[in-house]
Amino acid sequence: MFPCYLCGRLFSVNSIYIHEPQCLKKWRTENDKLPPHKRRPEPLKPDIKFTPEGKIDNQATIEANWLSHLEQLVPCRICGRTFNPERVEVHEKSCKGQAFKKFQDFKVEILQ
Ligand SMILES: [Zn+2]
Ligand SMILES: [Zn+2]
Repeated sequence: MFPCYLCGRLFSVNSIYIHEPQCLKKWRTENDKLPPHKRRPEPLKPDIKFTPEGKIDNQATIEANWLSHLEQLVPCRICGRTFNPERVEVHEKSCKGQAFKKFQDFKVEILQ
C-alpha cells in the first residue's frame, strides 16, 4: 500500500495512479477557496526512490510520500493538533483544546 502524498490515504499501487491526479485537482479547488494569505504552493510529488541496485525502493518512496503528506497538514491554533487544511477551520470553530480552556479559566478569574 502507498500513501497519497497529498491526503495521506492508503492505496494499492494501481489505484494510487488513478487517485493522485483526482486528489491534486481537489487540492487545487480547496486551495483556491482559501483566502489568499492562507493559500499554499502546490506540493510536488516526491520522486520515486531507488535502492543502490537501481530497484524501486518501496519503503523509502512510501516514507517520502508520507512526509510530503505531513507537510500539508495545518496545526489547529488552539490545541495544536494537525489537520488537512480544509478541515482545520471547521475543527477550530468547535475546538475545546487546552489553550482555549486555559483562556476560559483566565477570563473567569478576571471576572471574579
Ligand atoms: Zn489523496
Ligand atoms: Zn484544536
